[in-house]
Amino acid sequence: MSRKIDIFITEDQIKNRIKELGKKISEDYKGKDLLLIGILKGSVPFLCSLMWEIDNEKLAIDFMDVSSYGSETESSGDVKILKDIDSSIKGRNVMIVEDIVDTGRTMNKLLEMLNTREPASLKVCTLLDKPSRRVCDVKIDYIGFEIENRFVAGFGLDDDQYMRQLKYIGEVIFDK
Ligand code: 5GP
Repeated sequence: MSRKIDIFITEDQIKNRIKELGKKISEDYKGKDLLLIGILKGSVPFLCSLMWEIDNEKLAIDFMDVSSYGSETESSGDVKILKDIDSSIKGRNVMIVEDIVDTGRTMNKLLEMLNTREPASLKVCTLLDKPSRRVCDVKIDYIGFEIENRFVAGFGLDDDQYMRQLKYIGEVIFDK
């Protein structure tokens, strides 16, 4: 099956929106510590771009890798930690940084797992949100772009592990 990518959200649109998110997060966490936890691998470009826009002297970053088993098109919520964060989050202000929230199953499980570690606060920031696909009712605090039910790649999101390096987000069109 061949595929092509149609530009859906441009590099400039992404840059501008991340600037806005960074400004809001800087205001909301003024005088507080903040630990950004990026979920590998899709969140890497987003987390890097976002941290450059956050003005906070007590900003730290860490990464987690999780696998969500399920069918090819849908996660099951059976989330396993493949790589855990390196530090304790007890009493810290934590923000999970994700590339996309689809059914919400992965995020729901992540929130459940991290909440047991007693952070002072736990919030979620996602570059993309597909609300029409939601199965689990998760609260998302910061959203880059709300999108319809399309399969997208680029800016960290993969098409079968490729295309993560694109500076824009494209819709993957599959030809027969
Ligand atoms: P959820 O548990 O919310 O259904 O699954 C979220 C995960 O599904 C994301 O972290 C991502 O790996 C994958 N995903 C959902 N929609 C898309 C999409 O349009 N493009 C890509 N590349 N991954 C997606």
